[in-house]
Amino acid sequence: MPICFEPSENSEISKRHYNQIAREQMRPISRKYDEEEHSLPDEWVDFWWRTGRQGPPSKLESEGDGMITVCIQAEEICWGDAALYLRMPGPALGGSAVSAAGTKEQRNRFLSPFRGDGHPIWGAMAITEANAGSDAAAIQTTADFDDETQEWVLNGSKIFCTAGEGAATVDGGIVVVWATVDKSAGRGGIKSFVVPANTPGMRLIGCEKKLGIRASDTATLLFEDCHIPKDHLLGSAEVKKRDPKKTGDKGFKGAMATFDASRPIVAAMAVGVGRAALDFVKEELERQGLVVRYDAPPRELTAIERDLMEMEAELQAARLLTWRACWMMNRGKPNNLEASMAKAKAGLAVTRITQKAVELLGASGYSRKILVEKWMRDAKVNDIFEGTQQINQLIVARRILDYPSAMLR
Ligand SMILES: Cc1cc2nc3c(=O)[nH]c(=O)nc-3n(C[C@H](O)[C@H](O)[C@H](O)COP(=O)(O)OP(=O)(O)OC[C@H]3O[C@@H](n4cnc5c(N)ncnc54)[C@H](O)[C@@H]3O)c2cc1C
Repeated sequence: MPICFEPSENSEISKRHYNQIAREQMRPISRKYDEEEHSLPDEWVDFWWRTGRQGPPSKLESEGDGMITVCIQAEEICWGDAALYLRMPGPALGGSAVSAAGTKEQRNRFLSPFRGDGHPIWGAMAITEANAGSDAAAIQTTADFDDETQEWVLNGSKIFCTAGEGAATVDGGIVVVWATVDKSAGRGGIKSFVVPANTPGMRLIGCEKKLGIRASDTATLLFEDCHIPKDHLLGSAEVKKRDPKKTGDKGFKGAMATFDASRPIVAAMAVGVGRAALDFVKEELERQGLVVRYDAPPRELTAIERDLMEMEAELQAARLLTWRACWMMNRGKPNNLEASMAKAKAGLAVTRITQKAVELLGASGYSRKILVEKWMRDAKVNDIFEGTQQINQLIVARRILDYPSAMLR
């Protein structure tokens, strides 16, 4: 099937709409909320909940762009500010997890409050623990079924949970928690559970102080005898015992499928931050009289022209890989390989582009008077969360070589 990435009219309208929001609503408050780490950006939250999330005013009939439109939105909004993007009220990663692992009834039950008109609410996904990051199968948080109350009881602690403060403490929000129902079953015992905000036994310990995306509430959460209803387990409660001949099982893989949808979005976020830095540096250098000569022979190019061309090529490659992963998802094709390719490429590209942007601007690039140094700090997380650079490269290698995870890790 031929791939065509010619943006549809819908995509163009979305792009213009979200770019205007980024320019007018986000950029003016970007520095303030970077400096005031973790404080709630009220004006942005209110704006997004009331107006922004409704989408472009004259929405056309959907043309089947689905995920590509979601990624165009992520790129434009993160061109405005990636941390404020992560602070937007909405189901976020919690929603992706419910969509990937939940039943139709669960998707409706847990996600419909996010479509309502009430106060702003957040969703989050809590996988990472002190000793379980890249190796998600090593998680120690437990979920035991209490026969008396017919409820699940969660115990354990989670760290680095994006949007975790909002999701855990503002009524209506949800935290999707990964826990094991049977440690002896390895990956087969790992399930995901929806914990509504303010459920007794779930406690916010605090927010992480970070290098970048400082407006994002990255939380530590503690679960102590946290009771949740039986039907808050996403998908099936069936435990597939570890089979030494096999490398995984459907339950764990089902939960991991969340990443096939979320990695292209993170890649698009990275492209947005990289484009912010590239646009800025190009405008600044143009103001100083440097115009890139795209048609000049390579031997005549200056080092700066070559740098700018390389930055543009990196960005475009990352964007095209991202759209390919989305295009496949829109058509119901397995996109595990393509999602990891996009994420790995975009994480690296944005890290390089933003560092280069600081470099090309000299001392002023290092100053807090302009946002380029912030974009450099915001960039690196795209190489860490939703699977690090190395883990995504590992997934790509496994898929291409057709090796199971036990043989290549
Ligand atoms: C700002 C921020 C927000 C986050 N948000 C969330 C969230 O919402 N929910 C959530 O659950 N988690 C979240 N995380 C956690 C993130 O997903 C983990 O940090 C990430 O998976 C890496 O795990 P780790 O930090 O334990 O590093 P480790 O797994 O200990 O890795 C350390 C280093 O070793 C490398 N490495 C590990 N294994 C291999 C291997 N097999 N081969 C080669 N190299 C390897 C890694 O690539 C990395 O460079 C967030 C993290 C950050 C920084």
